[in-house]
Amino acid sequence: MRLLIDVHDMAWDEAWRLVRKTVSYTNHTLLPEALETWPVELISEVLPRHLEIIYEINRRLLEKVKTRSPDDDALLARISLIDERYGRNVRMAYLATVASQHINGVANLHSRLLRDRVLKDFHTLDPERFTNITNGVTPRRFMILANPALTSLINDTIGDAWTRDLERLQELEEWADNPGFQGAWHEVKSSNKQALAQTIFKTSGIEVDPATLFDCQIKRIHEYKRQHLNILHIICRYLEMKRGLRTDAPARTLLFAGKAAPGFYSAKVIIELIHAVADTVNSDPDVNDKMRIAFLPNFNVSSAEKIYPAADLSQQISTAGMEASGTGNMKFALNGALTIGTLDGANIEIRQRVGKENFFLFGLTESEVANRRAGDYRPRERYLKDQQLRSVVDALADGLFSSGDSTRFRPLIDGLLQHDHFFVLEDFSTYRACQQQVDDTWNDPTKWTRASILNTARCGWFSSDRAIKEYCERIWRVSPVPIE
Ligand SMILES: *Cc1c(COP(=O)(O)O)cnc(C)c1O
Repeated sequence: MRLLIDVHDMAWDEAWRLVRKTVSYTNHTLLPEALETWPVELISEVLPRHLEIIYEINRRLLEKVKTRSPDDDALLARISLIDERYGRNVRMAYLATVASQHINGVANLHSRLLRDRVLKDFHTLDPERFTNITNGVTPRRFMILANPALTSLINDTIGDAWTRDLERLQELEEWADNPGFQGAWHEVKSSNKQALAQTIFKTSGIEVDPATLFDCQIKRIHEYKRQHLNILHIICRYLEMKRGLRTDAPARTLLFAGKAAPGFYSAKVIIELIHAVADTVNSDPDVNDKMRIAFLPNFNVSSAEKIYPAADLSQQISTAGMEASGTGNMKFALNGALTIGTLDGANIEIRQRVGKENFFLFGLTESEVANRRAGDYRPRERYLKDQQLRSVVDALADGLFSSGDSTRFRPLIDGLLQHDHFFVLEDFSTYRACQQQVDDTWNDPTKWTRASILNTARCGWFSSDRAIKEYCERIWRVSPVPIE
């Protein structure tokens, strides 16, 4: 608007029409800390002319709202580009919304939450501008480059047309029960696991057995992604094995990787906890043929390319409603990992496609989470009622993983018992039961391999080619250029 008006001498209405026809807004997260608001005072110092323009956009927005809903002052305060509640701040997501032709989220659930919660008033005003485009991942990097052995096997079985049209992976379905193909599929996974085992040994000195179930949670460290739910369950498994229980459970390699923002204290504590539990478990001869824990440092795309192809189990366990889409979930499934996950982000769509019998589902739904947030959720009661959970939290509090130091993980424990904002304690028991199903399925290798093949065969829709095509057709309105 500033360039069109000030530099190109355009009238407001014409400039606004042009902006509204050119700009679209893709929202990538609903986390409040990422939905930016900028102090009016700061903008007025740094970009005073922009602020004038923002005010004029806002004046016109509020005029429009007033003609449609006269006398609704609450609505005006809610929809205003200026949040007046804690000082004066520009709501950047709202500014992007008024200025855009299309507004989209990156998975069905996330787009629905955008419409029904975060941008509800804008949706009421202009419903036809809202849409969804579910994310995708590039098969060139995350299958062909990262997993050459799988690529060769698929090429030898159904040809290579799938590399240009990923939904043709469906042609693998008829091979899912074929013993020869299952054997070859298993071989590919084993060789990828051997390669990853070497990387783990080189980077962290931890020896892991490639024959064990490779259970992976690799992603940014954040409380909403709930690495601590995973580690609490690992502690539970450890304590049970120490007591001679769950001895028939298959051996697992429990792999973590991920970075935390430098100033994010609670994420750093979670990393510290994973390392502390790993130190105890890996050096305990009572259990260390049944479980080994590794944290791969410096997680990035290069290390990701080694992990996704070697995973048996993909952990996608965020609090429902908080992971906009996830893309790691797609990379894992395309490489034949089975998912244990909540009904969140694109997990929901992955489960719809692979079939509920090929996906380990647990946990609260988004609406159940919303109800508990609105009501009185008492995490301490969960802790008191659940015997397993209590022994886990007590072991942590007693310093079992901190050489008897009972203060080290106290802030984490207090956070869980007092607020548990991410419903870790609430989801613990269903997560644990679901992990039992994972063990049972792993103990039936034919069933596991069949489900693994079907995950790959049915996830071709999650190609970035499909996602980009949808942006081209529905948002950018551009058509492909034919290549000779
Ligand atoms: C895919 C990817 C992510 C996103 O992972 P999620 O599990 O969807 O959070 C993050 N970092 C790297 C390096 C990735 O390759």
